[in-house]
Amino acid sequence: MGSVKDYFSNLGSGLASLLKGMQVTGKEFVTPKITEEYPDNRDNLPVADRFRAVLTLKYDDQGNHKCIACGTCERVCPNSTISLDIKTVDTWDGKKKKKLDKYHYDLGSCTFCQLCVTNCPTDALEFSNDFEQAVFTRGKLVKLLNYLPEKEEPQPTPEEIARMKAEKEAKIAAAKAAAEAKKAAAGAAPAAKSAESPADTAKAAAPANDAAAKALAAAAGDPVKEAKIRAALEKAAALKAQRQKEN
Ligand code: SF4
Ligand code: SF4
Repeated sequence: MGSVKDYFSNLGSGLASLLKGMQVTGKEFVTPKITEEYPDNRDNLPVADRFRAVLTLKYDDQGNHKCIACGTCERVCPNSTISLDIKTVDTWDGKKKKKLDKYHYDLGSCTFCQLCVTNCPTDALEFSNDFEQAVFTRGKLVKLLNYLPEKEEPQPTPEEIARMKAEKEAKIAAAKAAAEAKKAAAGAAPAAKSAESPADTAKAAAPANDAAAKALAAAAGDPVKEAKIRAALEKAAALKAQRQKEN
């Protein structure tokens, strides 16, 4: 008879165990999932913005990057991960300019230290958080970061050319005026000494006044340059006065 009692006892504990298991299963069934169903959720997979996956050259909406080919990133990289090809181009004003030709970056040797990004003087680099970088050969980890076609060198407008030309001429005229004024001040003392009439004195100062007038006329309309010329003339006049006083 004891066996019938054991039978029902075991049946009861079996049912209790089954209900316990069903309770755990039911609870987990409605609990929010914490595992990622990658790659099924690739399109909306949350990845932190500051995650460093791969170095990139920043491009703006017009397809321009800010790299000036200074080579700093290549020099500071501790693993020789970056290798730059730099070319020299002629600018519209006849000068030479360094320009980025090819920016090679080996993702396979990058330690993501970010020294290149923080030392770039033009803020041309950044790390993308695009972490899907698996490839079948190491060679494919070497990337060309300046992948967009190179833009033509910008050409100045006729107005810009005229403005730059006028600025250059005003600069030269100001320098000449300052030199003439200095020269006149240096020679004014003996001239004043030997001059017997006010007319003689005026004759001696005439070249300096002419040069000053020319310089001021060339800088007309530019208050900064005018101020500079006037300051140079005042300095020369003060020097002249001091020398006259000493003599
Ligand atoms: S440091 Fe910046 S500007 Fe200089 S070469 Fe590198 S990316 Fe270009
Ligand atoms: S993150 Fe560091 S290792 Fe990677 S390219 Fe930049 S400087 Fe070199």
